[in-house]
Amino acid sequence: MRQRKPLVVANWKMNGNSDLVQQMSDALSMLKQPLPEILICPPVIFLTHFPKHQNYKLGAQNVSEQQSGAFTGEISADMLTAAGVTHAIIGHSERRSLYGELDGLISQKVKTAVDAGLTPILCIGETLQQREEEKTLEVLARQLDAVYAAQPYLLAHSVVSYEPIWAIGTGRTATPEQAQLVHQFIRQHLAQYDVDAADALRIIYGGSVTATNCQALFAEADIDGALIGGASLKVADFSAICEMA
Ligand code: PGA
Repeated sequence: MRQRKPLVVANWKMNGNSDLVQQMSDALSMLKQPLPEILICPPVIFLTHFPKHQNYKLGAQNVSEQQSGAFTGEISADMLTAAGVTHAIIGHSERRSLYGELDGLISQKVKTAVDAGLTPILCIGETLQQREEEKTLEVLARQLDAVYAAQPYLLAHSVVSYEPIWAIGTGRTATPEQAQLVHQFIRQHLAQYDVDAADALRIIYGGSVTATNCQALFAEADIDGALIGGASLKVADFSAICEMA
């Protein structure tokens, strides 16, 4: 099996301020290598406030599917790369449910990001109702196929984040076994498009990850890191999670 470098992503959502930028960058800069790949995704206005440091990279929480033009409020992939940003979260469940982003738009965003040299972190996940109706794998397959079926080359440039919607911000994590089963399914499903890329793909888990529960998740064979919301706003907790990945 191929070695996959773990990836730990901080998704600040619409939280944080200049003090947190400073505290987080100071704390992460002090961590000793070897570290996982660490990615901070603050609100876009703070992206250029982070001092450059080898211990972490910067990501956006969203990106436009358009190149440029009359798209009020949007930010292009080229603008992000020009600012030193390397990754973009795409299709987070909050974007899907609160802002009506559908599979077609998300697929376009992934393509635009990759073509501009950004690594997309594609978020997929099922609702509680879908899980209870045993539709989890069907829903995930649909979300994955929407992006990769027509454009399999995108797979080699992507990260996938499995985020059961019922576990986001609820304090209710998927058990390591539940998450592992799904991650294994995702990898097997994507192998139809590109066996090597599916093997090398980092599949990270998101949903109420904390410094207390992360180690058991990271111990699973197909869990290659985590996307962290609430706990990424706590400097000590987030640093501890990075050290355990
Ligand atoms: P949470 O958020 O860690 O607060 O549950 C996770 C996410 O944004 O996916």
